[in-house]
Amino acid sequence: MADLPTHIIAVDTLQRFVAEIFGKAGTSGEEAARIAHHLIGANLTGHDSHGVIRVPRYVQNLQDGDVVANQQVEIVTEGPTHAVIDGHMGFGQTVGPQAVDFGIAKAKQAGMCIIALRNSGHIGRIGDWGERAAEQGLVSLHFVNVYQGQLVAPFGGVDRRFSTNPVCIAIPMEDGAPPLLLDFATSVVAEGKVLVASNGGKALPADALIGPDGTISDDPATLYGPLTPGGPRSAGNGPGSIRAFGDHKGSGIAFMCEILAGVLTGGGTSGPVDPDRTRRRIANGMFSIYLDPHRFGSSNFVAEAREYANYVKASRLAHGVDEVLVPGEPESRARAERLANGVPLQVDTWNSIVATARGLGVSAPN
Ligand code: NAD
Repeated sequence: MADLPTHIIAVDTLQRFVAEIFGKAGTSGEEAARIAHHLIGANLTGHDSHGVIRVPRYVQNLQDGDVVANQQVEIVTEGPTHAVIDGHMGFGQTVGPQAVDFGIAKAKQAGMCIIALRNSGHIGRIGDWGERAAEQGLVSLHFVNVYQGQLVAPFGGVDRRFSTNPVCIAIPMEDGAPPLLLDFATSVVAEGKVLVASNGGKALPADALIGPDGTISDDPATLYGPLTPGGPRSAGNGPGSIRAFGDHKGSGIAFMCEILAGVLTGGGTSGPVDPDRTRRRIANGMFSIYLDPHRFGSSNFVAEAREYANYVKASRLAHGVDEVLVPGEPESRARAERLANGVPLQVDTWNSIVATARGLGVSAPN
C-alpha cells in the first residue's frame, strides 16, 4: 500500500477546528485548545498515529464517560523527591502536564524526582512530556503502560499480554535547540500506526502483527477484524496481536513498563482483562524520572552531550544512507516542514473527523 496523504490543512485552521470540536463535546475552551495543540503537535512531529486521527475516538470516550472533562489531578502521596498522582481519568493532555509540571518543580528543588502517574486518559505522544521537561533544562525518562490495554504478544507467544508501552528519554540541548529525544513504542509499531495503515496510510512492516496461529502479518485486519472504509476500528474485533520489537529485548522492556507504570504506580497492568469489560478505554500509567543535570557528573552537560551527538553523526555511512540521525532529529525536521507547509491527512482520517464534527454541529473548514 502506498502513502496517501491527500488532504493538507494549515496548522492554525486545524487547531481552531479541533478545539471547536472538543469545546462542543463538553470540555472547557482551555482544555479544548490544549487537546488540539497536543494532537496536532504529534502530527507536526510526523507521528500521525497520535495526532488528530484520535479525535473521533476521544470524543466517543468523552461521550461514553471513559474520560472526564476538565479534571484536576490528585496528589495521592508525596515526599521531597517523589509523588504518586491520580489522573482520575482526565484527558491525558490535561492531567499529563499537571503531573509533569509537578515533577519538574520538585526536580528543580531537589535535583531529582520520580512521579508515578496513574489513571490518566490517553496521554498521547510521550515525547511531548520529555520535551516539556527538557525546556526546563531537565533530563527525563518515562515508562508508560495501559491498564487493561492488551495489544502486544510477548516474545515467543501469540496472545496479547502487553500494551504498546512507550519509553521516552529526553536530553535538554542549548537554548532553543530541540532536545535529544528517544520516544518509541516497544511494539514493532504503535497501535495508531495500524490505525493509520487501516485508513489507507503508510503500510505496516511485514513483521508487525501475529495471528492466533502464529502467522506473521502486515494486514491491519489481523488486529481490527474485517475493515469497512472509514468505519470505527476496535482492536477488540480482531483475532491477532501486535508483535514486540527486538525479540526478547523489546519484549523485556515492554514487560518492565507494565511493572513500573502499571504495578508501581498502582494503576494496574494491561491484563488479565476483566471479562465483564464492555468497552476498551485507555487508562495510561506513566512512571517518570526527572533529573537536574547540574547535580550530576558533568559541569558542562549540554555541551558535552551535543559534542557526543555530533561525533555519532560523523560516523561513516552505511550503503544507501544519506545521513546518521540522532534521536529527535526526524521529529524536529518534520515539525519545521509541516509548520511551513501544513499537516497532511489521509482522506479517511479527515472524513472521520468531519463526521464527528458534524455530529456535534461543528462545520468543517473549507
Ligand atoms: P518510531 O518507531 O517512529 O520511533 C521514533 C523514535 O526513533 C524517535 O525517538 C525518533 O527520533 C527515532 N528515530 C526515528 N528514525 C530515526 C533514524 N533514522 N535515526 C535515528 N533515530 C530515529 O515511534 P513509534 O514506536 O511509532 O511511536 C510513535 C509515538 O507513539 C511515540 O511518540 C510514542 O510516545 C507514542 N505512543 C504512545 C502510547 C500511549 O499509550 N500513549 C503508546 C504507544 C506509542
